Amino acid sequence: MSRAVLPAIALAALVPLAVPARAADEKVDLAAVTRIRDEAFNRSKAQETLSKLTDELGPRLTGSPSYRRAAEWAKGQLEEWGLTARLVPVTFGRGWQLDHVAVHMLRPGVAPLEAYPKAWSPGTDGPRRGEAVFAKLEKEEDLDAWKGKLAGKVVLTSEPPEVRPREKADAERYTKETLDDVVRFEPGGRGRFSPAEREKFMKQRRFRRKLAAFLVEEKVLAWVDGSRGDDGTVFVQADGGWRKDDPPVPVTLVLGAEQYGRIVRLLERKVPVELEVDVKTTFTPEDPLASADVIAEIPGTDRKDEVVMLGAHLDSWHAGTGATDNAAGCAAVMEAVRILKAAGLRPRRTIRVGLWSGEEQGFYGSRAWVSETLASRPEPKEKPGDDTPPWMRRPTGPLFFKPEYAKFSVYFNLDNGGGKIRGIYTQENAEVAPIFQAWLAPFADTGATAVTMKRTGGTDHVTFDGVGLPGFQFIQDELDYDTRTHHSNMDVYERVPKGDLMQASAVLAAFAWQAAQRDGLMPRKPLPPEPKTPEREPAGRP
Ligand SMILES: [Zn+2]
Repeated sequence: MSRAVLPAIALAALVPLAVPARAADEKVDLAAVTRIRDEAFNRSKAQETLSKLTDELGPRLTGSPSYRRAAEWAKGQLEEWGLTARLVPVTFGRGWQLDHVAVHMLRPGVAPLEAYPKAWSPGTDGPRRGEAVFAKLEKEEDLDAWKGKLAGKVVLTSEPPEVRPREKADAERYTKETLDDVVRFEPGGRGRFSPAEREKFMKQRRFRRKLAAFLVEEKVLAWVDGSRGDDGTVFVQADGGWRKDDPPVPVTLVLGAEQYGRIVRLLERKVPVELEVDVKTTFTPEDPLASADVIAEIPGTDRKDEVVMLGAHLDSWHAGTGATDNAAGCAAVMEAVRILKAAGLRPRRTIRVGLWSGEEQGFYGSRAWVSETLASRPEPKEKPGDDTPPWMRRPTGPLFFKPEYAKFSVYFNLDNGGGKIRGIYTQENAEVAPIFQAWLAPFADTGATAVTMKRTGGTDHVTFDGVGLPGFQFIQDELDYDTRTHHSNMDVYERVPKGDLMQASAVLAAFAWQAAQRDGLMPRKPLPPEPKTPEREPAGRP
């Protein structure tokens, strides 16, 4: 047995643990906090980084040339700040980019339409005109009735999303009460995906694939979805398309709720609607550097073989500039290490940065890196006809540990919008709670106070937590993440408040520093049991 399975007991002996019973027992380097706050609040470069990643480099869809440009730039910038940095290629699939989109209503009146193609959608090969048709195709039995009737049409297949008057502000910050609600732990609370929800999700996913195949066969001009939200905000992602064996789809567009509603109402009143659709997209060949992770380090000193890590996903969707999801997280992580360098702080343990690819498609970048560097389980075998997305497949088999596993202390992730840090989820690890309380205390005046025993999911820290390593995500002010920016065309620079980004950068820098300086590695939960039956996933969103 080579480096396969190392018994937990031997591991425990290898990992010196220092667990304070109370926050007060945890040593906190306040002198360093002073220097960190000074650099973060008086000489911040976070907005510049954010503008570079969003306004200039734009959306960073995994696999795309613009993702590669962003990764190469981030590597260069981190090197300029004195870190060592490298691009670690990741196997992903083919890339895609949007070159041009113009959609107009021509009849009964002329109107420009705010429509975006889904990522990996084909184009129209120049402007094409077609009649709009409202064909409510919501289950398999609906398809036959429309067979042979949709060639060259622009097909709207679902009811218009409801638009209600907005009686409360889009953006919210936690109050004392609502933050207490986040902290309060309700045993037996609902998780993310119960078996029933999993089945419902898979059923919808299978029908959507059948519908796409039907519309391709019908040679429709385009397939249009109505977006959730309002005020012309368009929430748009993809229906797959980056994997070799993904089936072809028609030109697929998402239209703002109001404009989508107008077309459906006209069609329901038998008023003919003619549209002109001009979409140009490019599929780019698989390029592992266009889906590379950016890994950078501030080498440690007396404990340099031990590692503390900060991370955020660099990839984004394509309709906005990926500001709150997740250039804000990347800018804060990059700023955190810039602050430590600028403040002349030399850590005991190595502080490492991970800017991940493919998070939106299922944590491709962090999964590849963790399984290459720390620990992995045998990849679940693809059962014939099993179309469960990789991120949803249950890992199988024992954990295989890599040499770095025993020396890895902790991973901190930032990926919950542009809001400032209000606290942290402990992933049900009681031993880290007093440590985090101690580390947050010097930032209580900025609103960072909450430590909850809850787990959260849906982003890259679960990749570390899933192999039994301390991996954490912060609680952030929600602002208008869910209501306006999360995967939408409104995910832009303006949605990341300057002060919030400064504060998040400072808290990240301090957490990395305290973890790099403390006597022991961060306490670990017992290794996750080998999953026997599907269980509930923690709440949270990608
Ligand atoms: Zn995200």
